[in-house]
Amino acid sequence: MSEPATDLSLRCSRPANLMEVCGTHSHALARYGIKQLLPSGVRMLSGPGCPVCVTPTRDIDLLVALARHEGVTLCTFGDMMRVPGTRSSLSLERAIGADVRVVYSPMEAVEYASADQARQVVFAGVGFETTAPMVAVSVLAAAEAGLTNYSVLSAHKTVPPALSALMEADDVRIDGFLCPGHVSAVIGMQPYEAIAARYRVPCVVAGFEATDLLRGLQMLLDQIDAGKACAENAYERSVRPEGNLHAQTVMAEVFEPCDSEWRGLGRIPDSGLRLRSKYACFDASVRCPMVVEASQDPPGCRCGEVLRGALLPEECPLFASDCTPAAPVGPCMVSTEGACAAAYRYGDPTEVQVPAEAHNV
Ligand code: SF4
Ligand code: SF4
Repeated sequence: MSEPATDLSLRCSRPANLMEVCGTHSHALARYGIKQLLPSGVRMLSGPGCPVCVTPTRDIDLLVALARHEGVTLCTFGDMMRVPGTRSSLSLERAIGADVRVVYSPMEAVEYASADQARQVVFAGVGFETTAPMVAVSVLAAAEAGLTNYSVLSAHKTVPPALSALMEADDVRIDGFLCPGHVSAVIGMQPYEAIAARYRVPCVVAGFEATDLLRGLQMLLDQIDAGKACAENAYERSVRPEGNLHAQTVMAEVFEPCDSEWRGLGRIPDSGLRLRSKYACFDASVRCPMVVEASQDPPGCRCGEVLRGALLPEECPLFASDCTPAAPVGPCMVSTEGACAAAYRYGDPTEVQVPAEAHNV
């Protein structure tokens, strides 16, 4: 007796551009081959959900300047090391003698500061609502320990204002957001409810397994089919409607919203987090103010367009020729969450033939 056929294909009666906001979703969609299950006319666009990728060149240049500063130990997550700044990168600075250390948690940086109080230890605060609470905890721990040599260069960003900016951009049309699971576990569903209502765009939070992604995508497509636009949760086992209140409280204690510059999206009001004045002594921009020369993105790099869904990675002229994971030109090929790295690693050659007008709308 033959097994019953399992039909995994997704259904929708109309064309649509869906954006996966999260870099880990980009990788999972590519790894599981889920784009091939989409109905004809439905396209996935990568979004600004990789914190390394959206950090602008100027912030990389600032971190390089800090790393060069006498007496500074710069601590960072590993993905930042190879991202090119205008003239250097953190890995290059380390190779020529700067004290740059890769850490897995900001608390490691606090430990370095505690162990050697003659050095200024600066943590590169890059990341979304998933990372910011841990960094806030590190500041509170340093305050509690009375450390005067630990600080954070905060380039943190928050996701909901970027979704609003994308909906207001005039070179991309997005018909639905596949929203990031980890960020949503912290912020909850309310921010998406506001975006869905304001822009009439469906938002569905999804997890990272193949079945999570298929379910989340089908919920998005069902809304589009039915002409609905609401926020739905397809990741109930991790995302509560109110989010993680403890993480929100810690974050709000240490940080306050500020305008922030995003690679590809420009300056977005209230999309960044800076240290509150109460914690100014832990703010590297106050403690070690740096002046950097004018910043410039790598020549020919189209990461900015990839990050707002205006260009598929494979459409960048440098993709897989001058720009590869071994010799990356832009951050989207460096970062493990980058859209170009995902397309290179799991790429579907047919993507190259997608006409630009299908997504540049
Ligand atoms: S931090 Fe979490 S939610 Fe954000 S891009 Fe990475 S995996 Fe996605
Ligand atoms: S292929 Fe390289 S240069 Fe082009 S957008 Fe991607 S990372 Fe940037």
